[in-house]
Amino acid sequence: MENCLFCKIIKGEIPSARVYENDQVYAFKDINPQAPVHVLVVPKTHVASVSEIDLLSDEDVAACLRAVSLIARQESLSGGYRVISNCGPDACQSVPHLHFHILGGRRMSDQMA
Ligand code: 5GP
Ligand code: ZN
Repeated sequence: MENCLFCKIIKGEIPSARVYENDQVYAFKDINPQAPVHVLVVPKTHVASVSEIDLLSDEDVAACLRAVSLIARQESLSGGYRVISNCGPDACQSVPHLHFHILGGRRMSDQMA
C-alpha cells in the first residue's frame, strides 16, 4: 500500500524504534506512548484491520500473536500487559494497517473502554 504509514515504517521509509522483527512481523515503539511500555506489532503484509484478517495467511496471523508474547517477555512485562487492536471508526482506529498495541509497565484501568 503506497500511502500507508505503517507500510512506510516497515520499509524503513519512515524511521521507527524497532523492538522486534522477523519475516512476517515488524514491531516498534508507539510515537505517543500511553504506558511505560507501548509497542505496536504489525504484520508486514498490509491488511486494514482485524476485519480483514481472513486476507492474511494463517502463518502471518499466528506470527503476530507469537510476536506479542515474545515481546512481552523481552520487555519484562512479567506483571501482565494489555493487548488491543482497534478496529474501525467506533474503536477510533487511526492507522488503517492491522496492528496490535502492547501496553504495560503499569497497572491498567479496570475499565476496558
Ligand atoms: P490506532 O489509533 O490506529 O489504534 O493506533 C495507531 C497508533 O499509531 C497510535 O497509538 C499512534 O500514536 C501511533 N502512531 C501514529 N503515527 C506514528 C508514527 O509515525 N510512528 C510511530 N512509532 N507510531 C505512530
Ligand atoms: Zn500498510
